[in-house]
Amino acid sequence: MGELLVEAKDLKKYFPIRKGLFGQKKSYVRAVDGVSLSIQKGETLGLVGESGCGKSTTGRMVMRLLAPTEGEIWFNGKDISKLNDNQLRETRKELQMIFQDPYASLNPRMTIGDLIGEPIIVHNMMTKKERERRVHELLEYVGLTSYHANRYAHEFSGGQRQRIGIARALAVNPKLIVADEPVSALDVSIQSQVLNLMQDLQKEFGLTYLFISHDLSVVEHISNRVGVMYLGRIVELAHKESLYENPLHPYTKALMSAVPVANPRVKKERIVLQGDIPSPSNPPTGCTFHPRCQSCMEICKTVVPELKEIEPGHFTACHLSQINGQ
Ligand code: SF4
Repeated sequence: MGELLVEAKDLKKYFPIRKGLFGQKKSYVRAVDGVSLSIQKGETLGLVGESGCGKSTTGRMVMRLLAPTEGEIWFNGKDISKLNDNQLRETRKELQMIFQDPYASLNPRMTIGDLIGEPIIVHNMMTKKERERRVHELLEYVGLTSYHANRYAHEFSGGQRQRIGIARALAVNPKLIVADEPVSALDVSIQSQVLNLMQDLQKEFGLTYLFISHDLSVVEHISNRVGVMYLGRIVELAHKESLYENPLHPYTKALMSAVPVANPRVKKERIVLQGDIPSPSNPPTGCTFHPRCQSCMEICKTVVPELKEIEPGHFTACHLSQINGQ
């Protein structure tokens, strides 16, 4: 077992909604409702699930861009969940983020060199000369050249912009990178180039990734372990091989059945989920997946299944898997 870098304990994020003429009655959107996870140094943990399942909110809480409503976040042995902005300042440079749409996160009026160098200025880490050298070095690391430093974001393709976003994230030598749908906006051929670059950089700099995506194939490509989220909770968590070869939770099985197989002779039975994802402001009782689950039992309607280890390293939150011991 490697060294622990991140540990999130029972994280919750509830967003209030005010109702009534004067906004006096409050209810809550339970975007994340009790997520616990850990990430070892040098590991990539994938978080996968449909839109609205809480994976991005979880990532933003781990980054401390959002304060959790409840729960703890331990980073490198320190509880960062309750620190204020001033107290977080030192830790912030060790936590960097890569966004889905690099164009939206890159100021169009700044040169690429200034964009990549900006975090170094914010954290007051180097002299001007050192910073320029560092920017050129980072451009080379991500497959661009020093010559690109004087150009602007609109002059680059989507894949190149994501390389710039990665260089900017690397500028301050982070320990953890949270990548939120970093390749979803890219063509499939470019996706694998960016994923391979991320893997190369991980080896080179010993980076740790929390990789968030709705795409099971992308998550399989890059992750060591994968957590599947549904309605604000992790319903299954396992090593990649174990999860993709032997999914246990009915929701994971349904997601897997929808992934296209390259070989047309391999027949796969498609499990079509009934109904829509329920509203996180009014989640179903018991197992929140029960209204859509083909294996639903009486207990599922009232008792919330806990995430339990069924096989070594393979956890699932499902009464049926726990009864069957598989
Ligand atoms: Fe289905 Fe019950 Fe398992 Fe939920 S706990 S996934 S409803 S079998």
